[in-house]
Amino acid sequence: MTNHLFYQSRLPRPDLQKAEGIYMWDTAGKRYIDGSSGAMVSNIGHSNPNVLAAMREQMDKSTFGYRLHFQTEPSEALAARISGLTPEGLDRVFFVSGGSEAVESALKMARQYALTQGEAQRYKVISRYPSYHGATLGALAITGYAPMSAPFDPMMKSMPKIPAPRAYLDGMDADDPATGLHYANMLEEKILEEGPSTVLAFIVEPVGGASTGALVPPAGYMQRIREICDQYGVLLIHDEVMTGGGRTGRFFGAEHWDVAPDLIALSKGFGAGYVPLGAMIARNDMVEAVLDAGGFIHGYTYAGNPLACAAGLAVLEEIERQDLVGNAAAMGDALTDRLQALMQRYPVIGDVRGKGLLLAFELMADRNTKAPLPVDLNAHSRLVDIAYENGLIIYSRRTRGGLSGDHFLVCPPMSVNEPQLDEIAEILERSMQQFM
Ligand code: PLP
Repeated sequence: MTNHLFYQSRLPRPDLQKAEGIYMWDTAGKRYIDGSSGAMVSNIGHSNPNVLAAMREQMDKSTFGYRLHFQTEPSEALAARISGLTPEGLDRVFFVSGGSEAVESALKMARQYALTQGEAQRYKVISRYPSYHGATLGALAITGYAPMSAPFDPMMKSMPKIPAPRAYLDGMDADDPATGLHYANMLEEKILEEGPSTVLAFIVEPVGGASTGALVPPAGYMQRIREICDQYGVLLIHDEVMTGGGRTGRFFGAEHWDVAPDLIALSKGFGAGYVPLGAMIARNDMVEAVLDAGGFIHGYTYAGNPLACAAGLAVLEEIERQDLVGNAAAMGDALTDRLQALMQRYPVIGDVRGKGLLLAFELMADRNTKAPLPVDLNAHSRLVDIAYENGLIIYSRRTRGGLSGDHFLVCPPMSVNEPQLDEIAEILERSMQQFM
């Protein structure tokens, strides 16, 4: 093993040998179920032959054309295909290489658009706590996750935050529209507190990802947020980096509430682990205004890479050909049943939540009071390690600061089937037994 490579910790993990469908094998021959699609990325499963063939075909033509020198057929075709999936009026696609870049690009598009409208005083981007929008400094400034942002606070312009609507912790009924209003109105209060003419945008993950553990907004929340943004001239950014691409059982997560944003950040599920790929999608009139005013002052060297776009196009074709969005909805229901059955047997599981195959369960010291397990129990990493030993990969991140407990994302590829869900449920059961 080399000592040259490093990531964020000393966590020893084996070398990956190969991966196929929902399964992965290390070099010692041990098999794992990719129960979290990596970090909710490998949405169509590993080694899809049609995607690999499309990549090979593109490699024989070209693998790079700098965007200021050439358009490429795959990037144009992919942009056209994405615009066919977006809400009306959001047809302009700007390619990047990942989620953080997609979010950064949305922030810069929002700001530049405001400048074209003579609104230079608008610069504040309100977000939620907890939330995750990326690791780069701009995206981190709007991320509500102190363990990741605190060391860098002096280097960033800290942005205002409102609480994410965790009705289950506050003892509120998420199905009651009054609950949605209660949390959404916190945005209006924050806009008024900051001074409406200074607020540029509000960014929201339609269904929460790693930071909240698949938090589904309460009834009416997403619609009321849209109304408030319209009322105060605040741009609405949907961070669909994790939800986009079908994982929640609709291509975009926000389709569940029939709400259109002004800007979308998209990544993980449409590169699907085959290539680094992301996109920022903007309202047509915003893009026209910015281009008319001299151009979008932003860009990354690898933007619109033809190999990445050819893979992305093939991924979208596979999603459609296999109806993976429909399968995510159906298998999501089937997996929810299995997680709820597990919850019946283990009182330490205090909540099961999510949409489609963006699902999580949360461990708690007390299901009624929602008290979290003690931090020093290290439940989040212990259960992940036990499951890993048993050949099942699940994803966890503990939101510290007394705000949340230990949640575990169970998000297999959207190509998963019922017998495979049974395998996942069996290993989870065994892992919970060992954990207790
Ligand atoms: N936004 C959301 C909602 C995410 O879940 C993530 C990654 O987990 C990001 C942004 C950042 O994406 P990336 O890690 O590809 O930069």
